[in-house]
Formats: sequence, structure tokens, C-alpha cells
Amino acid sequence: MIVRKSPAEIEVMREAGRVSALALRLAGDAVGVGITTAELDRIAEEAIRKEGGIPAFKGYNGFPATLCTSVNEQVVHGIPGPRKLRDGDILSIDVGAIIDGYYGDNARTFAVGEVAPRTLRLMQVTRQSLEAGIARCRVGMRLYDVSAAVQQVAEAAGFGIVREYVGHGIGRHMHEEPQVPNYGPAGKGPSLQPGMVLAIEPMINEGGEAVRQLDDGWTVVTSDGKPSAHYEHTVAITDKGPVILTLE
Ligand code: MG
Repeated sequence: MIVRKSPAEIEVMREAGRVSALALRLAGDAVGVGITTAELDRIAEEAIRKEGGIPAFKGYNGFPATLCTSVNEQVVHGIPGPRKLRDGDILSIDVGAIIDGYYGDNARTFAVGEVAPRTLRLMQVTRQSLEAGIARCRVGMRLYDVSAAVQQVAEAAGFGIVREYVGHGIGRHMHEEPQVPNYGPAGKGPSLQPGMVLAIEPMINEGGEAVRQLDDGWTVVTSDGKPSAHYEHTVAITDKGPVILTLE
């Protein structure tokens, strides 16, 4: 069942989204050559707690940190640690916060120093695919209209769309129905209704779509070792159109 939120609930989720966006920006501002992903994690956790929030990922199914930090060929769910960022890396940061029992969730990929042009293009296209998906978050559209919009942008650029990991409904739980794939048949799926809130999160690979999980039980990497980018917003569907909740 897809849980629809009241306008009052969406206001609380806007606050959870704001804190999630703040943590993402502050961690992103600190990204640079030589910093460790563990240091970025500490910055984000402090920011969330200072705002009265709870890091949404820490302890979720045993995940040990506030951020998922995924470098280069790492797609999602990378664990922060002593790894120092190097010139030419890209880093995907995914972070969520809980405020008054409601969740926010957002992600973005950051460049470290000078990044290869094709990888910068990957980042740009992944961001554009998210924007295309958000633009379809309107009453009267179907869920897979959102998915197809993401797919079209990514495939037009010749990049690989990760299939095994998808976006999701969000609210009192981080992962609610429905699943939001980054590919799918336009015109199909549940009708979008006011009060639905979706976390849309394209994970796009510079090479092929295949991924695998590392032995740490978390980190997902591309099978061909090429870079991957990840952008995410939490979006409410309203009578007035899509409202991005993960904004400061
Ligand atoms: Mg998510």
C-alpha cells in the first residue's frame, strides 16, 4: 500500500528534508583532496544532531555510519573510513535524517579536484535524469512515467542504468512502497496522487549496468570498474505539482 501524507505531515517531512540537505551540503563543502570519508561522516552527523535530528542510516540494518560514501566505481552504500580522497576522484554522498519520526533522504556526486571530462558528463547526465523524473511527479501521471523519464535521459547519453537498486516511497519509514525503478514503461504503474512522497535516486554508470556487492556486505561497485554517479531528492506530489522536500 502506498501511504499518502497529509499536508501537515508533508510539512514535517520538509523539515526532515531540510536537515538532510544541510548535512549533504556541509559534507559536500568539505570534499577535497586529502580529506577522509570518515571526516565527512563526522561533519554530517554533527550537523544533523545539532538540528535535533537523528541520522537515518546509522544502525539501519546494521549500517555503521551517517553517510554512505561511494568513491569512483563504488555505486552506493560505501562505508566511511580512513580512505583519503584524491585528485580526479568522484564521491557520491547519500544521507538521510529523521525529524519527529519522519524521514528525509538525498544524495549527490561531488568532483574531487580535476575529474575526467566523460566522468563530469556522467555526473551532469545523472543530475539531469533526476530532474526529468521529478518533472513527471504530477497528479495524473503514472509511476513509471517517472522511471521512463530517468531512463530516457541516461540512455540517450549512452550510460548504464543500475537495475538492482531503486528509489522508494518514504515517510514514517525510510523505505515504503512503491519501489521507484530508474527504468520502466511510460504510462504504466500506480497513478500518482497528492500526498505521495517519493525518493527518486538514479544510479548511473559510465560503462555497463552490471554491479556487484563487495565482501563487506554493503559496498556496491560496477562490475566493469568504471565510475558511477548518484543523485537523489525526496519529492512530494501535490495538487500544485512536485515539491522537492530535500532543500535548505
Ligand atoms: Mg533513498
